Parts: sequence; C-alpha cells; structure tokens
Amino acid sequence: MLIAILKEARGDETRVALTPDAVKSLAGKGFSVAVESNAGLQSGASDGDYQAAGATISQNRAELLACADVVPVVNLPPAEEQEKMKSGSVVIGFLRPLDDPAALTPAVKRGVTLFSMELVPRITRAQSMDALSSMATVAGYKAVIAAADHLPKLFPLLMTAAGTIPPAKVLVLGAGVAGLQAIATARRLGAVVEAYDVRAAAGEQVKSLGAKFIEVDLGGLQTEDKGGYAKELSPEALELGRQAIATAAKNVDLVITTAQVPGRRAPLMLPTAAVEGMRPGSIIFDLAAPAGGNCELTKCGETVIHHGVTIFGPANLPAEVPAHASMLYSRNLSNFMQLILKKGELSIDRADEIIAGSCVATGGEFVNEKVSAALAALKVHA
Ligand code: NAD
Repeated sequence: MLIAILKEARGDETRVALTPDAVKSLAGKGFSVAVESNAGLQSGASDGDYQAAGATISQNRAELLACADVVPVVNLPPAEEQEKMKSGSVVIGFLRPLDDPAALTPAVKRGVTLFSMELVPRITRAQSMDALSSMATVAGYKAVIAAADHLPKLFPLLMTAAGTIPPAKVLVLGAGVAGLQAIATARRLGAVVEAYDVRAAAGEQVKSLGAKFIEVDLGGLQTEDKGGYAKELSPEALELGRQAIATAAKNVDLVITTAQVPGRRAPLMLPTAAVEGMRPGSIIFDLAAPAGGNCELTKCGETVIHHGVTIFGPANLPAEVPAHASMLYSRNLSNFMQLILKKGELSIDRADEIIAGSCVATGGEFVNEKVSAALAALKVHA
C-alpha cells in the first residue's frame, strides 16, 4: 500500500496535502509513504522533515503516479497526469466536482476512485474532516489582514495629540465560516463591523462577535437548506439584499464579500452602481472570486480599480497562508483517510454516509447524483 504526496501542479498552489505529522502517523500504522521532492517546501516542510517522519523522497513524479494506491492532493492533478495513474487507485482532495466535473473524466476513465473534500457531508461525525471550513477560516482571517495592509487608513480608534483617528468601518457580506472569521479579525484590529447574510441563524453569531447585523425583511422566506447552507434566492429576494448592501457600502472603508451557494455561481451582491456609490480609497475584497464573485466588477486573480475603489479578487487565498492552511487541511485529510484505510489496507465501505456523500467516481463511473447532473447539464449546453 503506497501513499504518494505530490508537489502540487497548480501554479499558485503553495499548500501540501499531508504534513510530516500526518506522514508519521501513517508510517506508524505500517503504510509506505513516498513524497515528491520539495512537495512541502513552500508550507515549511523540508524533504528531511518527511524522511524523519518515515517517508521516502522521490524525484520521479511519473513513477509515483503510476505506482501509488492512494494520492491525497490539494487540487486535482492535470488531465495528462490523471491518465498515468494506477487503475483502482484513490485520489482525495479539492476536486471541484460541481464546478468543473468534466475535468475529472480522465481519472474516471482510468478507473480511479475519487473522493471530493468539498462533498464531505457536514454532519457531526465529519466535523474533523471539514476542509471547507478550515480553508474558509484561513481565508476570512487573511482577507482582513491583506485588506488592512492595502487600506490607506488605520483600523483602530486612536486618540493622539494630533487628533483622533476614527476606527475603520468594515462591511462583511455572507456570515458563514469565512465571514465570521473576517468579522472576528476586523474586530480584533479595532474596526467597527456590520454584516449581512440571508440565513437568520447568522444574525446571532454576528452580534455575538460585537458586530451589527443588517436585517432585511424577506417575508419569512426559507433561506437555508437542511445542510445549513444558503439556498439560491429568487431575483426579488436578492434585490432586497442588494439595496440594503448598497446603502451600507456608501459609508464603509472595506467590504469583504464571502457569499456562496454550493454548486452555483456566487450571488451578485455588489453591482457596479453600488461600487460607484462607495467612497474613493475604499476596498472590496471578494472571497467569492473563484465562484464568479459577489461584486460585478471582480476579476478572479486580478485587482481592479473603479471610481477610486480597489476590488481584489484573490484566486487562492488559503495558499497565501500555506503553513497553517496545510496543517489544517492535512488533519482533515488524515481524519478522512482513517475511514478508508484499515489494517494496512484500502477498505471502502460505500454504505458509510461520509464515504457515500464524498465519493464522486469509482470503477470507471461517476457515482454522485449531483455531479452526474452537473455533467449532463454541460452536455445539454455543449
Ligand atoms: P458558504 O461558503 O457556502 O457561504 C458563505 C455564506 O454566504 C453563508 O453564510 C451563506 O448563508 C451566505 N450567503 C449565500 N447567499 C447569500 C446571499 N444572497 N446574501 C447573503 N448571504 C448569502 O457557507 P459556509 O460558510 O461554508 O457554511 C455556512 C454555514 O453552514 C455556517 O455558518 C454554519 O452554520 C454551517 N456549517 C455547519 C457545519 C457543520 O455542522 N459541520 C460546518 C460548517 C458550516
């Protein structure tokens, strides 16, 4: 049983799937672990650290792909590498199965079993495997720190002999895991914070962090699904939110947007007119950029300046904090792997709710209904 850790192929990726701690635990259970040379370097783990944890280091990526039984990854390997993987092997990671299901096809055709960390059900037993929450926590924190660095103002209230500096005003859109972390971080830096979310439950959480919650009367609309996620809203309900947001945005220095609906384009919350109503020098930091953005002007991976407002659309924010992002992700992955690695062998119990929910493909076929529907929709539009 060989577990292989590859250097991530994606250009802007600095995280590694498993850290030396996780390797030590796997090696202690009798698994062979091979690490591609320098796989952990950017997240602070050297080849020597992996060797000390019990791994072998390989310069031969092609051989690792061909021989590995389990390949934990951050991102899906590119198509030409999927085609070289061992048939019957297992890949686990952020595979973006609902955003880009077609990208998985080479691995599926090769008979690789795919587990998506995005699809791990959010049940209590799977909390320790919740990699989305881990990365959202990192992103929410980093968004505030990066934005504070770019803001032409200070965050805290300062009383100086030269006069009083008022605290920065921050608006957070979407108060889920990333949004709540952004609120907490902005509060710790001394900002005055307000936030908006469609889920009523978010209101109490926002207030408990010392921020103001923007209430919008959606007429008792059911906004949350049974998994605790926001539902896709009607155009009317979305517009009510946008009006409240545009009013609030006029008076703030920084807007951090985090609103997402799983498997859909991110909801549009800040149209161009709302940006034009903001003060010059203010900043929008759009964490939903990879899902299409919450701001109409966001360009993923780019910085746009419009009417004096700077709009950041980071493509991979957790990768800007690689050490801790890798540490958390590695723990989530390790906890997941315990479900499928038993007594030194691969043992996949498809009846297990976590395995059933996260398994995208096995035996040459897609096995997840939502992913199959996303693929079918692609064929209809092709
Ligand atoms: P997410 O990343 O999918 O979305 C971020 C936020 O955007 C959510 O709070 C959502 O309500 C909000 N949003 C979506 N559309 C919106 C719109 N049009 N206007 C305003 N806000 C909008 O979600 P997430 O942060 O990963 O998780 C959301 C919630 O799920 C969490 O706050 C938590 O309550 C729950 N959760 C539960 C578990 C668990 O039980 N294991 C784990 C993680 C999260």
